[in-house]
Amino acid sequence: MAEILTPDICVIGGGSGGLSVTAAAAAFGVSCVLIESHKMGGDCLNTGCVPSKALLAAAKRAALARSALPFGVTAQTEVDFAKVHGHVQRVIASIAPNDSVERFTGLGVRVIKGRAKFVDRHRVVVGDNHEIRARRFVIATGSSAGVPPIPGIDSGPYLTNETIFKLTERPRHLVVIGAGPIGLEMAQGFRRLGSEVTVLEALAPLAKDDPEAAAIVLAQLEREGVVVCSGVKVARVRHSPGSVTVTYAAEDGEETVEGSHVLVAAGRKATVDGLDLEAAGIRYNRSGIGVNKKLRTSNRRVYAIGDCAAGQLQFTHAANYHAGLVIRNALFRLPVRVNNDVIPWVTYTDPELAQAGLTEAEARKRKMKIRILRWPYHDNDRAQTERETHGHIKVITTKKGKIVGATIVGAQAGELIATWILAIAQGLNIRALTGVVLPYPTMSEIGKRAAIDFFTPSLTRPWVRRIIAFMRIFG
Ligand SMILES: Cc1cc2nc3c(=O)[nH]c(=O)nc-3n(C[C@H](O)[C@H](O)[C@H](O)COP(=O)(O)OP(=O)(O)OC[C@H]3O[C@@H](n4cnc5c(N)ncnc54)[C@H](O)[C@@H]3O)c2cc1C
Repeated sequence: MAEILTPDICVIGGGSGGLSVTAAAAAFGVSCVLIESHKMGGDCLNTGCVPSKALLAAAKRAALARSALPFGVTAQTEVDFAKVHGHVQRVIASIAPNDSVERFTGLGVRVIKGRAKFVDRHRVVVGDNHEIRARRFVIATGSSAGVPPIPGIDSGPYLTNETIFKLTERPRHLVVIGAGPIGLEMAQGFRRLGSEVTVLEALAPLAKDDPEAAAIVLAQLEREGVVVCSGVKVARVRHSPGSVTVTYAAEDGEETVEGSHVLVAAGRKATVDGLDLEAAGIRYNRSGIGVNKKLRTSNRRVYAIGDCAAGQLQFTHAANYHAGLVIRNALFRLPVRVNNDVIPWVTYTDPELAQAGLTEAEARKRKMKIRILRWPYHDNDRAQTERETHGHIKVITTKKGKIVGATIVGAQAGELIATWILAIAQGLNIRALTGVVLPYPTMSEIGKRAAIDFFTPSLTRPWVRRIIAFMRIFG
């Protein structure tokens, strides 16, 4: 006989989104059941953000050592890949307690390990032992690597984000299918750790990003020896012992690349298998579970958040943002409306590429009348001292100066973007950025310089010209 539980909220999936909902519900003293079928922490902790950034950190150390000579420093670089693997696993282990069953049980949450499945519109079961009849359900089951139907791909081993961080030996030659953020981060990381790397992309690399900024990332990858083939369609994969041959259709006919490993990083597939969504009257399709602006599914009792929700951005901070909306709506009955424009993103290549608000292309698509403001890293004194001169900031404002978007490509872009996220969220005018005093020499001055550019076209009167010149000199 199954145990019957009747909490206020039942969360399915203990990853970024599910844990945020659960922690908030527990903090408000709301009874909550959390069901997790695999590892607490989900993709982000175990097979996504955390291991990828830990691997990139190791790769960066190697790259810094190799590029020390112009600073007058000679460093010898040797990569022990098994130790890199150890570092990545230790970082996961150091964060894991925050996401653990013990922590959430301590917060008063009932955590059930097992696979959740709907039996009707009101009930979820976990195996034969638990039946949950909750006032609200939140599906946060995440996503997995979408594997394109390439002939031969599954006739041998291929890597995804679930397996690549388990490697204890460095791949001789990694062939990456897909040049999105995951594919390119891994490409640069493995290249810096000593692998040969070839990336095959059917469309344009980093297609969602500003093309000028993406070009700067690609140029750096190419300088480091990553081979990126864009606009090529993978035709077939042939596995043989210790190697894999990938054939792709290029402009001049078919070409092949022979590698030791192939990584599939060609988009994500929402996890809905086994949930029996039909039983609960929840609509879904290939891109995920259908949700409205409140993140409610076609069953009013049930929300879907994070990577499994159709049409949403797939990031940890997006899943956290969704969690906040659901808590407000489900617990406090406050009106909410998901807004993808407020969700920034960063690709953690070196240089980093960070986006807040609208890209130039998106603003133009919306037929907005805009101004574009720029400043290059090479005109920043701190960038010069660090020899980090590749990159720029590009700010998009309305004609009156309201900030609607910012793209930064360059060193520390992921940190520098925070100012612009705040500015956009607060509806600030570019004027606000010209007046602040920033410490010298810092890379954050790049943003202020771009802001000052807003006033350049009105340089008709000599006194305006003098003020701009003064601001340029004394900041
Ligand atoms: C290589 C890589 C790098 C990434 N880097 C970043 C980054 O730097 N920054 C960033 O913001 N995002 C990054 N992401 C994306 C980020 O990991 C995801 O957007 C985020 O994890 C989504 O959270 P989620 O809660 O929707 O799903 P998940 O974190 O995947 O959690 C879903 C959980 O649900 C469980 N589950 C599934 N089905 C069931 C079921 N039927 N019953 C019970 N439990 C179930 C799963 O086991 C899993 O634990 C990266 C992703 C990858 C793959």
